[in-house]
Amino acid sequence: MSQTLVGMELPEIQQLLGAAQPAFRARQIFGALYKQKVRNLSEVSNLPKDLRNDLRQHEFGLPEVENFFDSVDGTRRYLLRLGDARTVETVLMPEEGRDTICISTQVGCPVDCKFCLTALLGLERSLTAGEIVGQVLHVAAAHGLSPTDTRMNVVMMGMGEPFLNLPNVLKASRILVDPNGVGMSPRRITVSTSGITPKIAEFAKEPLRPRLAISLNASTEEQRQELMPITRKYHLKDLIEACRAYPLRPWENLTFEYVLLKGVNDTDADARRVVKLVSHINCKVNVIALNPGPGIPYGTPDPERVDAFQAIVRKSVPCFLRKPRGLDIYAACGQLKRTTEAASLVELKA
Ligand code: SAH
Ligand code: SF4
Repeated sequence: MSQTLVGMELPEIQQLLGAAQPAFRARQIFGALYKQKVRNLSEVSNLPKDLRNDLRQHEFGLPEVENFFDSVDGTRRYLLRLGDARTVETVLMPEEGRDTICISTQVGCPVDCKFCLTALLGLERSLTAGEIVGQVLHVAAAHGLSPTDTRMNVVMMGMGEPFLNLPNVLKASRILVDPNGVGMSPRRITVSTSGITPKIAEFAKEPLRPRLAISLNASTEEQRQELMPITRKYHLKDLIEACRAYPLRPWENLTFEYVLLKGVNDTDADARRVVKLVSHINCKVNVIALNPGPGIPYGTPDPERVDAFQAIVRKSVPCFLRKPRGLDIYAACGQLKRTTEAASLVELKA
């Protein structure tokens, strides 16, 4: 498959056009792709006809809507179809004062976290930079959101492990933050990783990188190895060390995410150990009670347990409770596995 136009950076477009075209043409096409949000090149009326015809041999590269599901809480989950007919999920969570788009970085996920429905899919393939950016372009255009507005946030917390697709995640991020591209502030984009430790330092080298979130989810080495088997390769101790060494920018703190599993990692002792692990890092902790799903062998803790856990952590580190969004349509964290069966959706709504 030749590279699609969406996903190309300026030098790639310049190369594609060749020396015969004036330099401003590439900038014009770059702006049309990412700023004017056109859906095909015939909408760019000031391009010479010959050039437009030449460029037709390249697929444009925006995803198509295969399906979407609306939650009672306003969340919309899209099933978007890619060029090879595979589908990924993208979720829009509108809130008072902010809109968050949760995008995928891979089709499925190769990391085998025991509490996550996406893990059950395994990895089909990684997404290209164009497919990552395309999800943002689609949702922004479909809902009239302006990427330069501070209301709009993007989180790479959908399907997939971003740090196992780092070159494409970085390329997509550059296009998203380029003032002549999508034009978002890097402060309003967050990449979440399960802890592919060596990639943290690599990510840190990118000057215009998004914010970083780490899915901690356990308070001891042993517990984490059980819940997130990737820890056997990348130990918790080294992950925390990499976080400590991470060069935060003046405006930035790290986010640790922690999924509470009933009777497994949700005790007072766990909370105290979490504090010990992260309190020397400039960070905040987001706790979330497990979003259940078929095939997930864990339960959701009672609200009192969640409150007690949060209260202990909050004494030392800012700690927020993340409310699940779109639970009734399988759109919440860890629920993305392309569920379309009406029966299971209705079951959850009941
Ligand atoms: N692969 C990346 C990003 C996608 S997962 C990562 O793991 O960080 C996004 C978040 O959802 C992670 O913090 C993960 O721990 C959380 N999560 C996974 N399954 C969940 C579930 N069943 N309930 C609540 N959160 C879950
Ligand atoms: Fe993959 Fe993240 Fe799910 Fe783990 S929690 S299986 S890394 S998507």
